[in-house]
Amino acid sequence: MTTNKRLILILGDQLDLDSAALENFDFATDEIIMIESANEATYVWSHKAKIALFLSAMRHFAQELEKRDYPLTYIKQCPLTLIDALKAHILKTNASHLVCSQPGEWRLTKSLEALAQELNVHLDIREDNHFYCSIQEFSKWAANKKELRLEYFYRLMRKTHGILVDTDGNPEGGQWNFDQDNRKPFPKKGPGLIEAPASFKTDQITHEVLEYVTKTYSDHPGSLESFNWPVTRDQALDALSYFVDYRLRNFGVYQDAMWTSTPFGWHSLLSSALNLKLLNPREVVDTVLASWKKNNIELSAVEGFIRQVLGWREFIRGMYHLDMPQMAQDNFYGHQRTLPQWYWTGDTNMVCMRDTIGQTLQYGYAHHIQRLMVTGNFALLAELLPADVCAWYLAVYVDAIEWVELPNTAGMALFANGGRFTSKPYIASGAYIKRMSNYCGSCQYKPDVRIGETACPMTTLYWNFLIKHRGQLAGNPRTRLMTTNLNKITKEDQAAIEAHAQILLNDLNRL
Ligand SMILES: Cc1cc2nc3c(=O)[nH]c(=O)nc-3n(C[C@H](O)[C@H](O)[C@H](O)COP(=O)(O)OP(=O)(O)OC[C@H]3O[C@@H](n4cnc5c(N)ncnc54)[C@H](O)[C@@H]3O)c2cc1C
Ligand code: SF4
Repeated sequence: MTTNKRLILILGDQLDLDSAALENFDFATDEIIMIESANEATYVWSHKAKIALFLSAMRHFAQELEKRDYPLTYIKQCPLTLIDALKAHILKTNASHLVCSQPGEWRLTKSLEALAQELNVHLDIREDNHFYCSIQEFSKWAANKKELRLEYFYRLMRKTHGILVDTDGNPEGGQWNFDQDNRKPFPKKGPGLIEAPASFKTDQITHEVLEYVTKTYSDHPGSLESFNWPVTRDQALDALSYFVDYRLRNFGVYQDAMWTSTPFGWHSLLSSALNLKLLNPREVVDTVLASWKKNNIELSAVEGFIRQVLGWREFIRGMYHLDMPQMAQDNFYGHQRTLPQWYWTGDTNMVCMRDTIGQTLQYGYAHHIQRLMVTGNFALLAELLPADVCAWYLAVYVDAIEWVELPNTAGMALFANGGRFTSKPYIASGAYIKRMSNYCGSCQYKPDVRIGETACPMTTLYWNFLIKHRGQLAGNPRTRLMTTNLNKITKEDQAAIEAHAQILLNDLNRL
């Protein structure tokens, strides 16, 4: 029997009442379905806080839908996969149409397409109106470009959306970027007083979810003790206004700085709210722009922040949809080593890794430079298998959804796609970490020592990487200087570095 019943699928990262999936909703015949699939939490080995965040935010969103009288089927703690549960519901309700907003995961889009074909259901996947740049616009921009670089895309976005540009399209303050004012280390005596991020009450729904996750996912990584993520739109709006009022002013200057027991620095902690669609990037950018004038914030901080949201976030998403499924398989250097066990425990003597992994397990959070230049840098230098590393990042960060995690990890941190959208591999020795943090001060290793018991593994592996890939790195103007420095090291010392690196690589679990 042919019906005209539409089933609207709302995924756990699509919690937006203005979602394209809800456009033209017919209250008489349409029905929404939301599914808590236990399988989704285990197919990626997720941090407890990430599971709790998704479940609590989904349940709160369901409550909002019910308040507005949307017909909703909400399947709690479903033992089936999302696709199997959906299939059963389509068959039960005899739905003829399946509607959803573009999933943030390629695999899921393909599974929905296969399901629709199998059941002969009309599938309507709608462009996700949450982003400034559509998938089609991005691929049009990327077509025939010799180089895909954030900078050009970002300038175009600024001009297209009239953000921080004058009427002639020139950048506010006369320049497109203020990197020279941003990205400083904290002062030698420490970061000083930083306003704590906004905090949120644990209501009944979150309380139940925390109990459920504690019981059901006890063997999963991470802790729930410090759970403090926005799970409703109101909380997400509070997080945004709190950030612009108290933390934005120092965001730019200390964007890259790291310090022990300072897990959040001046960062916004807005990524999970943005990625679950509790916040729209347009309102984030508009609020930051309003605060620039109202709170007399430096343009460098405002531009530095807007570059992340309007630039990087949109660019990364465009790259994901452009390059999948290839992106998930790329392994430019052919690295095969498995992840040392301490990535899951933080139990390592390397203070930079211990601190970054430790706070990751505690909160499900590390900021960009910790992800890129500490755990990511080590993973590249230690020749870890990209798929393993990506699985780790997807598991441990509360904001991790494949469209944003994979390009950042495989593309940016691991150079697994050979520099498709980055101009060089992001590699650094212990000297960089020493400059940008206080980690090295309490470490048993010495950042400027390359060989021997006290040698910093970051430093040994960095020079080993340069020796191994000298040809490729010397041919790139952005990394040529690194290999020139290599020429200052004698052949004997280079051989000793290689030998010491091999010892480390053979037993990464020992570090
Ligand atoms: C290896 C690696 C993996 C990453 N995985 C994720 C991930 O799974 N999910 C995720 O949201 N971000 C990811 N990032 C990007 C970035 O590290 C996080 O967005 C950021 O640390 C989140 O913290 P925040 O909200 O305090 O960000 P802030 O530093 O305050 O930045 C503001 C906002 O800008 C956006 N943003 C900044 N940098 C990026 C970027 N490179 N890509 C996309 N958006 C960006 C985020 O929405 C963020 O909330 C990854 C980066 C690296 C290097
Ligand atoms: S010495 Fe090396 S391993 Fe230790 S904290 Fe510094 S960079 Fe990390």
